[in-house]
Amino acid sequence: MAVFWYTPITMKIILAQPRGFCAGVDRAIDIVILALQVYGAPLYVKHAIVHNAHVVRDLEKKGATFVESIEEIPIGSRVIFSAHGSPPSDYDAARHRSIEIIDATCPLVTKVHLEVKRYVREGYTIILVGHRGHVEMRGTMGEAPEHTYLVETIEDVHALGFSKDTKIAVLTQTTLSVDDTATLLVEIKKVFPQAILPPAADICYATTNRQAAAKALARQCDIVLVMGSITSSNTNRLVEVVRAIGTPAYRIDQVSEIQPEWLSAPMRVGITSGASAPESIVQAVVDRLRSTYGATVETLPVIEERVWFDIPKDLKDVAHDRGIDTDVLSKHTIAQDATMKR
Ligand code: SF4
Repeated sequence: MAVFWYTPITMKIILAQPRGFCAGVDRAIDIVILALQVYGAPLYVKHAIVHNAHVVRDLEKKGATFVESIEEIPIGSRVIFSAHGSPPSDYDAARHRSIEIIDATCPLVTKVHLEVKRYVREGYTIILVGHRGHVEMRGTMGEAPEHTYLVETIEDVHALGFSKDTKIAVLTQTTLSVDDTATLLVEIKKVFPQAILPPAADICYATTNRQAAAKALARQCDIVLVMGSITSSNTNRLVEVVRAIGTPAYRIDQVSEIQPEWLSAPMRVGITSGASAPESIVQAVVDRLRSTYGATVETLPVIEERVWFDIPKDLKDVAHDRGIDTDVLSKHTIAQDATMKR
């Protein structure tokens, strides 16, 4: 628990900035919304387009059908691949079934895929730092499964039996804990001095910035509420970084999950949200704390973000041909402050 020099007289909400939607999530949601406008249903989406239950439910209501495998999609139809990236085998399977692919993979995930391919072409073995079973890892490993070794822990690193002559390149999942990954990278370099580490960690700008903002929040608050779904890797990491500072943190998906025993007045309540969590959930929590505890609200600006990714040109062109205005997209973007870290 953080120690304070002041005595707050009521409940104060402090909102982390940045929080919530990242550029890759904005883009992926825009792609589904626009594709539904252009083509209508049925429109298939492989895997949750982003890891948030509200977003998925909302897009389902708009007409999207979510599936987990290409085999579930009728031959000759259309599929959107989720922001987390997909292995080449999924692209091949879709083409084999004459399914048109609209790719919503985040460009920062694609960058890691391209790094895998380049390193393998140059004769490297890849150590991939990430969470086993996470869909992003399935996609990244799928680029070169026979040359890629996933590690989650220091024990995993020590279990790798590479000789000192093995050319090794290290890549990471985009949504890891910055601090835990730094520790693991140091260990990898210790065990395999010849390893090339990522020049800038593959942990993306949005993950890095949200963790920095969550840490700043944790130092000023009695508790931190982290909005996001349990399936969201970057949301779960936000909870961990707050707890690592010693401040209690609770992940919630919606306002009804708030437990009264967490809260009292006076108290400083920090609020942040994962990269796939809609701002409407944050605002619902703010409204509840205002009405129940008379909470006041302020924002803690930590890092500016100005990152935006365009939607695929082909989809945009078809939309324009059909007279659909694409300028209205991304209005859900939190156009707050951004510095792209690479
Ligand atoms: Fe892309 Fe990072 Fe957002 Fe993932 S969290 S979609 S890698 S910007």
